[in-house]
Amino acid sequence: MTDAYAVFGNPIAHSKSPLIHAAFARQTGQDILYSALLAPLDNFNQAISTFIAEGGRGANVTVPFKEQAFALATRHSARAQAAGAVNTLQFEADGVLGDNTDGAGLVRDLVANLGVSLAGKRILLMGAGGAARGVILPLLEQLPMSVFIVNRTADKAIRLAQVFADHKNLSAGGYADVSGAFDLVINATAASLAGDLPPLPADVFAADAWAYDMMYGKDTPFLAFARLHGARPADGLGMLVEQAAEAFWVWRGVRPDTAPVIQMLRCA
Ligand code: NDP
Repeated sequence: MTDAYAVFGNPIAHSKSPLIHAAFARQTGQDILYSALLAPLDNFNQAISTFIAEGGRGANVTVPFKEQAFALATRHSARAQAAGAVNTLQFEADGVLGDNTDGAGLVRDLVANLGVSLAGKRILLMGAGGAARGVILPLLEQLPMSVFIVNRTADKAIRLAQVFADHKNLSAGGYADVSGAFDLVINATAASLAGDLPPLPADVFAADAWAYDMMYGKDTPFLAFARLHGARPADGLGMLVEQAAEAFWVWRGVRPDTAPVIQMLRCA
């Protein structure tokens, strides 16, 4: 019997998750069917209920539903609890488990695939939505020197930093508060989706800095800005595949090899 999984978002047509999970299933011999489903902006819960009623076993959740997915879950993994956002749901007989694999995916892409060491580094994290929330704790666990969360709506970044108030190397503010040079600048905003560049100062990158855009599939104004100012650019394709591998492991108890899948998508 084939087990059904899906990714829910709005928009969703651009999603590569069905290709990735089909490749994982082929590689590991798992019998699953994984689709991309458009959830209505005003009725995410109904879309999930319908999928469960039709036999769905689990789901990924993307923009703009990760906080709604957190509210929908009846229990949470520790990393989802810390993030306050959910990108992976597992439907169980007695409820819905909410997990968050974004942070593990980002850190694995940075450290294992790109060879970026985060210990002792100065990190600028742009954005305070679901994606940003999901990666804060996994980044802090790598023992950076500092993490500054910057957001267009500064209050939202400040409130987010207060959730992790035990970490004295974490602070937050608006773009006018960004000062100094950073070793890693992560774009976890939705600005690239709209072709926009957040208002960063030209001297934001330290020597040998990395610029990581969570967006994938096209060059972005942020990565063009990074190249212009001497930073090494990386898109979010590796994170996408790594967070998917972590979700696959949560659902199936099998860890796929991500390198050939990243390679396949880069060539496509
Ligand atoms: P949310 O909608 O939850 O949050 C959006 C964030 O972007 C908010 O902080 C918002 O600021 C900010 N923002 C939106 N437009 C602009 C702009 N023009 N300039 C500056 N800031 C802006 O989205 P998510 O956090 O879920 O996702 C963010 C991005 O990360 C998306 O592009 C998504 O595709 C990508 N992503 C990639 C993943 C991967 O695996 N590669 C995984 C997860 C996400 P404000 O609060 O002021 O509105």
